[in-house]
Amino acid sequence: MRAAVVREVREHERRVALVPELVGRLTGAGLEVVVEPGAGEWAFHPDDQYVAAGAEVSPSDVLESADVVLSVQPLEPDRIARLKPGAVTISFLPVSSELDVVRAARDAGVTALSVELVPRISRAQSMDALTSQALVGGYRAVLIAAERLPRFFPLSMTAAGTVPPAQVLVLGAGVAGLQAIATAKRLGAKVEAYDVRAASAEEVRSLGARFVELDLPSLEGAGGYAREMTEERAQLQRDRLAPHVSSADVLITTAAVPGRQAPLLVERAALEAMKPGSVVVDLAAESGGNVEGSVPGEEIRVGQTLLWGGRNVPSQLPVHASRLYAANVVNLTLLMTAEGEITVDLSDEIIDGACVTHEGAVRHEATRELLG
Ligand code: NAD
Repeated sequence: MRAAVVREVREHERRVALVPELVGRLTGAGLEVVVEPGAGEWAFHPDDQYVAAGAEVSPSDVLESADVVLSVQPLEPDRIARLKPGAVTISFLPVSSELDVVRAARDAGVTALSVELVPRISRAQSMDALTSQALVGGYRAVLIAAERLPRFFPLSMTAAGTVPPAQVLVLGAGVAGLQAIATAKRLGAKVEAYDVRAASAEEVRSLGARFVELDLPSLEGAGGYAREMTEERAQLQRDRLAPHVSSADVLITTAAVPGRQAPLLVERAALEAMKPGSVVVDLAAESGGNVEGSVPGEEIRVGQTLLWGGRNVPSQLPVHASRLYAANVVNLTLLMTAEGEITVDLSDEIIDGACVTHEGAVRHEATRELLG
């Protein structure tokens, strides 16, 4: 059977779903690998690397002949229509904003697997693209801030005097937040962090950062994820965070609630009270923003503070974001592959959880409701 790797066509997407280094894992399992010309170009993998790794690079029939299609962004409806019934697509598929893609996959009889929906169980850790890409985003956020901050991150004791370390505040200590804390610590900053999940306090401290206690009731929900909070509690949280925000040189926000708009954690007044030259990186800008006024993909000034809104941040480090994502999708593909044949086994909770459409029907219940 054939696994196809497409060239990403959406704006700002520089990643590729398979890197040459991992082609052998698919061919070793008996799959043929076909790559659209230029697929790896933005991630610095020219076509000849794929050929050397055992893939075919072909401009024609890539979609029509594919049994499984690997991509980062979902395929556009017109490309889905070119797939054969029963073909499988593996990609990010944020269902609520991609209902046209869902309809196209359903109508084409395609099995669409969404990597966002892979259950976060231990067996699926190697397929967890949310984690791998959040890791890239958290790292990148600190570099963005460090580059824009008009002062040092580390403490420096010199003959010309002592330079104090930058104060970094990280809000949201999940995968991206913890990576941001670790990266800021490596650069020598003094770091404090906050998360609504009480369990994150220990993780924050284990990285050498201070956990901010706000003395608010816990919001921990099922499965270790945060629950939504009432507006009154959200305001109390913002008010209590404000003094920590205003004393930081760098603020990095990463807070999210799965499937919902990101919570607003920082109001404009708190930004205006920051020291001149402070830098704010809002990694949640695309999902509504943790910081009032942040705009995805834009860098704006609020008073004397620079506010950077993230847009597809993992794609800004396409080499390693692609390498990690490719490992996730290869592991998911191999879960369905035996002796060169791909089988969609819906009795496996990983495949079942990730499956949005199959055999002409929308299986994912929340998406079915959205389609009405
Ligand atoms: P996420 O991207 O959904 O959210 C990021 C962080 O924002 C979370 O830690 C969340 O608690 C926090 N947050 C939400 N609302 C907030 C608010 N109002 N104020 C402050 N913080 C707020 O989460 P994620 O990074 O993908 O993961 C969250 C948790 O899931 C972590 O504990 C992580 O270790 C766990 N996880 C488990 C697995 C697994 O078991 N395979 C995989 C990945 C993550």
